[in-house]
Amino acid sequence: MDALAAVRVESLPIGDLQAFVARGAQAMNRLAGLTSRAVGEIQVRGGGLVPDTGGASAPTPAWLRSVTKETGAAAGRRVRTSVALRELPLVRDAIVDGDVTEEHGRVLARLVGKIAPGALLESQESLLEVARRCDPDQLANFVRHLLATWCEPDLEAEEASAEERRFLQLRNTHKGSWRGTFELPDAAMEVVLTVLEALARREGKDDKRTSGVRRADALLDVFGLALRHGELPDTGGARPRVSYVVPATWALRLPSAAERAVGDDPTAGFVVDVDQHPGADCATAPWTGPATRAQLERLLCDAQVERVVLDAAGQVVSLTSVTDVITAAQRRAVAARDRCCTAKGCSKPPAFCDVHHLRSREDGGPTELGNLVLLCRRHHVMWHRGLIDLVDLRTPWLRLPRPRAPALD
Ligand SMILES: [Zn+2]
Ligand SMILES: [Zn+2]
Repeated sequence: MDALAAVRVESLPIGDLQAFVARGAQAMNRLAGLTSRAVGEIQVRGGGLVPDTGGASAPTPAWLRSVTKETGAAAGRRVRTSVALRELPLVRDAIVDGDVTEEHGRVLARLVGKIAPGALLESQESLLEVARRCDPDQLANFVRHLLATWCEPDLEAEEASAEERRFLQLRNTHKGSWRGTFELPDAAMEVVLTVLEALARREGKDDKRTSGVRRADALLDVFGLALRHGELPDTGGARPRVSYVVPATWALRLPSAAERAVGDDPTAGFVVDVDQHPGADCATAPWTGPATRAQLERLLCDAQVERVVLDAAGQVVSLTSVTDVITAAQRRAVAARDRCCTAKGCSKPPAFCDVHHLRSREDGGPTELGNLVLLCRRHHVMWHRGLIDLVDLRTPWLRLPRPRAPALD
């Protein structure tokens, strides 16, 4: 070890370094096998206790932890695996010989105590056969199948305890995003993945999103769909909808900041703000707080906007619905004409699409079929960020104004 440590890796050619890593990894596995064999012997011979430095005795995992500096859980796992592998001597020898890794051994050890010892001893050779061909994850899958076949009650107990552990937690990073962690049992994840993976497929050749990003987008698609079409429970007599309070000037060409508007569509609503309100100059949402104008432009594009006018004391003077709302009939007509997101190469169906104003409402763009197209959430965001334009859309029906002939003189 000391001689190897003295070698300067900077001075070795790549081929030698590769050989060094390969042989080092194998040596590590073999050493792990040897230590595991010794740990199993210590645990069994001492009946679970070992003499510690002070002359008293300590449980083997506690002692092992003090020696290896690993966590208590890891030390406990190591002791359990070492003992279990005594029932699989051929597997243990295979680890010591560097034939399979310690990780493989840990996976196979799960069979101990679940399958009759005699049958287990006999099956070692075939288990090793599989282990040599698989990585530990694949082997774990194989072992789960074996357990499902040979000891169903065990699998049932596992399912029941997984059911108990289910949870979902969401945390605001306060940096404009949220993080979540969750644990769901297999049966629930089967439902989730069936929907999520179907929506997370690559959309055409130009789709450069990573699988993680596509899954995140798919998650949002599912919730958007629920908001538009789902039978969600009422909140105070109305179906829940996303609703922002925004300054009147953002949503409408309004001269006075004292006037406010409220808006909503199946997915987004807007309330234009009051002077007295602490967030008078920016948009705010009830769950996630402030949002920028750029962020809201996409939502404003397909929202119902209502105007709330307040007096100086903050009293509501009037509440009027702004007329140019995209009607259900218009939505159906746009869906029938466009059939899916109009971005070239994208095929997201109407259920996942917003209706987008080609010329924005703010610039006087009318809410008429000729000015409306279907865009999926991703392409809608891209449009409002200026990343795609008319040339990127499939809109054969659209009559663009002819370029003016150059003036002759
Ligand atoms: Zn839009
Ligand atoms: Zn699209």
